[in-house]
Amino acid sequence: MVPWPPRSNRGGIGALCPGGAGRGAMKRSASGGGVEYTHDDAARLESVRKVYGRRGNTVVALGGVTLGFERATFTAIMGPSGSGKSTLLNVAAGLDRPTSGSVVLDGTDVSALSETELTRLRRERIGFVFQAFNLLPALTVEQNITLPLRMAGRTADRAQVAEVIDRIGLGGRRRSRPAELSGGQQQRVAIGRALVSRPVAIFADEPTGALDLRTAREVLTLLRDSVRALGQTVVMVTHDPNAASYAERVVFLADGHLAGELGQPTPEAVARQMVELGAWDRLPQQPGPEG
Ligand code: ADP
Repeated sequence: MVPWPPRSNRGGIGALCPGGAGRGAMKRSASGGGVEYTHDDAARLESVRKVYGRRGNTVVALGGVTLGFERATFTAIMGPSGSGKSTLLNVAAGLDRPTSGSVVLDGTDVSALSETELTRLRRERIGFVFQAFNLLPALTVEQNITLPLRMAGRTADRAQVAEVIDRIGLGGRRRSRPAELSGGQQQRVAIGRALVSRPVAIFADEPTGALDLRTAREVLTLLRDSVRALGQTVVMVTHDPNAASYAERVVFLADGHLAGELGQPTPEAVARQMVELGAWDRLPQQPGPEG
């Protein structure tokens, strides 16, 4: 467990960002049209607060979080229920705006964008994977995968689409409809749909929450391979220490604040940390080996 913040850089932004303090440097753009960031994170949150509700009845979901997601890395976000994981994911992915602080996606400060510009940025540069797959039932595997390209007005490059379908292991099922596929296969289609536009980052909210152990492994291996083989950036919320162990870094949240971080996590170490954070009363009997 890394002490929080690490002793070498207490209070410093770089402490929270792999790559060091110098990488988060920020400067005003010469044109005055917003802020340019010199660091190279795929996504970055700076002092992000998210408060829901109105005066007298507010919930602080995120209480000032600074966190970077380096390109071509796989990060898991964990923490007790209500600790702010989904809020963090939604804000980092540009699905929701912070109350204060800034979110930088692929070098663009999203607070400077209009709703239309933000929608375009999400469509063109961000991939999403949800627990419930969210495929369109009337469309085939191939049509579901190419949907984001068509929505962005781009023509699907046949070779690129074939490569994605091969990567998700559904070469023989390109004309199947979601109802004809298992849950694991449907989630692989959702990952293919996220991968096809080669986004700067894929944000996944409990992607294995509806899957059994074996199919969960397939989906997690696919996510991990997309990081290793394609240089994809993946950020995944999960409550499962086994799932988190597929990531190379686990960031823990508690009460809307960063509560620690583990590198090269094992299921056992992740589970111990969850107990320490009060998410669970005790360790699970058998966290089980990671795949
Ligand atoms: P987690 O994903 O870790 O379970 P969430 O990000 O969903 O946590 O929620 C963090 C806190 O913010 C919780 O107290 C939750 O009740 C509150 N919250 C989340 N979304 C909303 C919302 N739309 N309106 C009001 N409160 C919300």
